[in-house]
Amino acid sequence: MNQSDYKKTSVLIVGAGPAGLSAAITLKCKNPNAKICVIDKSHEPGNHNLSGAVIESEVLAQLLRPVDKNWALDPLAKDVLVGKVKRDNIMFFLGKKFSFNIFFVMALAKKFGICFGQMLHGDDYIVSVSKLTKWFAGIAEKLGVEIVTGFAVEDIIYDSQKDIAIGVKLVDQGLDKDGRPQPNYVKGEVISADAIVLAEGCDGLVTERFIEKAALVREMPQLYSLGVKELIKVSDAQYEKFTSGRVVHAMGYPLWTPVLGPAMFGGGIMYPMGKNQIAVGMIVGLDWKYCDFNPQDALTNFKNHSFVKKFIAGGTIVQAGAKMIPEGGYYSMPRDARTSAIGSGNVMLLGDSAGLVNMMKIKGLHNAIKSGIAAGTAIAENTQSSVALASKYTELLNRLGVINEMRSARKFRQAVAKLGPLFGMPLASLGQKTPKFTPEEDYKELSSKKYKYKPAKNYDKDTFTAMAATTHREEQPSHLKIINRNTCAQKCTPKFNSPCITFCPAGVYETVAGQVSPANPSNCLHCKTCQRKCPFDNIRWTVPEGSGGPRYQNM
Ligand code: SF4
Ligand code: SF4
Repeated sequence: MNQSDYKKTSVLIVGAGPAGLSAAITLKCKNPNAKICVIDKSHEPGNHNLSGAVIESEVLAQLLRPVDKNWALDPLAKDVLVGKVKRDNIMFFLGKKFSFNIFFVMALAKKFGICFGQMLHGDDYIVSVSKLTKWFAGIAEKLGVEIVTGFAVEDIIYDSQKDIAIGVKLVDQGLDKDGRPQPNYVKGEVISADAIVLAEGCDGLVTERFIEKAALVREMPQLYSLGVKELIKVSDAQYEKFTSGRVVHAMGYPLWTPVLGPAMFGGGIMYPMGKNQIAVGMIVGLDWKYCDFNPQDALTNFKNHSFVKKFIAGGTIVQAGAKMIPEGGYYSMPRDARTSAIGSGNVMLLGDSAGLVNMMKIKGLHNAIKSGIAAGTAIAENTQSSVALASKYTELLNRLGVINEMRSARKFRQAVAKLGPLFGMPLASLGQKTPKFTPEEDYKELSSKKYKYKPAKNYDKDTFTAMAATTHREEQPSHLKIINRNTCAQKCTPKFNSPCITFCPAGVYETVAGQVSPANPSNCLHCKTCQRKCPFDNIRWTVPEGSGGPRYQNM
């Protein structure tokens, strides 16, 4: 598709993920003549999407019934919806050698309406989000939505006087490492639109710039976690043993143990993904304190735990990847201070860009899709000026129950951030009666403490990166910027031993000629952890040329 075709569109959606594509599908169903352009920096739809994932079945029907009432019979749907959750296991590991199932605690919580009951996943679909995204993109294209991949958006053009965004500016392509134009240089176009939907996923650069320009406010800072995940092909016998409808969510070791252990929020996951492949992952709250901690070490420990090992020993890693998750919830949703809209004027924030993850459920995909339905409906039904769009969208989010659900879990993550998992989680079981805590930003929590369960062998980041199939044009300026190198040398390295070198899942940072540097930017997985966990807030992730980054297929 020629880029020049898109200098003007009616609706511009930044991000071809589940939220953005749901908005496009909904709008096209309601108004087949709508001119919609979805733009994404990935090489192909789905390449930058990674998650567990378990999705609530009802929301899929809500989105796809207007397209085709027999949507579930489509062979593509059968390929994407790997199976239904039949056995939901939440294991609590007491230590390296023990595990026991606390499913009954969750079942009781559900029965008596205690908030933790939300974690149960009965009758939901197990999916690969990269495949789900690709499937949604195909549906949207059949409906006439234009999807342009391989073009990255750099900024939003916003008129704060009129409270309206005019369009977006794309990243310049064809610069050399020093920022000088090469023969293939193409200046990033401006694409103008009447309505703009920001659905970039977690910690999107354009979204954060818009939040600043439009002066949206978060009542509390956003909190993040990092998920690292491997897809492991196992034997027939192991896969059979794991059973196809089972998902595992594990708490405790190796992130927190009751007595004098580490105290980090998060846990391990295991999902069956079909074709003898089991997804094994570790999700860790970025408010960890240990300066030598690498989430991939926790993944190694999890994989070596006897409960996990029996299912994956001898297996082959076929894909790997990493992404951040916005965990702050209700209090961290960016809102217009005057109207409380999640967006402003003609700009709406969707899915992870709006922070619509419910950590009590450990899920956000259903809310991402609902936000797409709300945005598509708001645009289709809006009869006033486009300045009213963000308010209309927020009203619809309310009607779809998204805001209420986020509200019901509003004190959970903050209580854990403040008191740690051992005390914070039980306290959060008080639900609405839980005291309200205001945590600090994640990067402020780092200390010189060391992680107790460091595995004997360093994690193989090269293989991990290769399995994410990440690639960037080598001759472009680095998209990772260290603001002040003196801070690294004089403050961070002596105190924390340069943690970016350890925690970056792709091994991007190294010490070169005595200086910490993003030496391997082409390995970057776009997880943005470095921007949020550098203890001196000294890293900025900027957008590389389009088409760069990971190429997830079944993650
Ligand atoms: Fe430390 Fe940040 Fe410098 Fe890395 S970039 S050495 S984490 S201050
Ligand atoms: Fe993630 Fe930053 Fe490493 Fe890229 S450089 S993979 S954004 S931590």
